[in-house]
Amino acid sequence: MVKENLMEVRKHMEEACRRAGRPVEDVTLVAVSKTKPLEMLKEAYEAGARDFGENKVQEILEKQPGMPEDARFHMIGHLQRNKVRQVIGKAVLIHSVDSLRLAEQIEADAAKRDLSVDILLEVNVAREESKYGFFLEEVEEALLQIREFPHITVKGLMTIAPFVEDPEENRDIFKKLYQLFIDIKSKNIDNGTMNVLSMGMTGDYQVAIEEGSTMIRVGTGIFGAR
Ligand SMILES: *Cc1c(COP(=O)(O)O)cnc(C)c1O
Repeated sequence: MVKENLMEVRKHMEEACRRAGRPVEDVTLVAVSKTKPLEMLKEAYEAGARDFGENKVQEILEKQPGMPEDARFHMIGHLQRNKVRQVIGKAVLIHSVDSLRLAEQIEADAAKRDLSVDILLEVNVAREESKYGFFLEEVEEALLQIREFPHITVKGLMTIAPFVEDPEENRDIFKKLYQLFIDIKSKNIDNGTMNVLSMGMTGDYQVAIEEGSTMIRVGTGIFGAR
């Protein structure tokens, strides 16, 4: 079933790219495998998946040794500062950097081991109380500070849009984050390092692609309900 689901998601990605006039290579699919057993990740790998998303450090540490070497793990969940040490050097990208304090911790731990860590800044576009992340108007200032950290590279922005019945309700959220992404790049606040816009999940990834997403995080649509 995982294989069929993946093919379905890829087809919808292609259709959304075509509608948006974008090449499908522009968009990376991260298969969100949180809570799912290793066998299912292997099935996805067999069907061509290479990027896997997890929201717990522990799950990355447990699953990574069982996967082929070219499987990449993305940290997409809220990261506690006392777990940073364990995830840097393991996750290829941390999508969920949601505070300056967390970035400082990553810098400190990365410096000790002379690692270079790629991150995204998580943005709470809809200002939901229940969600982590910077507000849109806080992102530039955070970037100005974090770009001074020698062991961190900010590769882009990430958002988790609200849970909605109709994905059209999130179009405006995606538009806003895309606009900020473009503004930051045009002002060169990112020193030219930003090329990732991580937005879109099972319920809304097609709309997200139409609005400029370069990385979608799809769990349920590939692995089934959790
Ligand atoms: C679980 C999760 C996803 C995937 O959600 P689905 O709706 O199952 O596709 C994407 N991003 C984050 C941050 C998640 O925690």
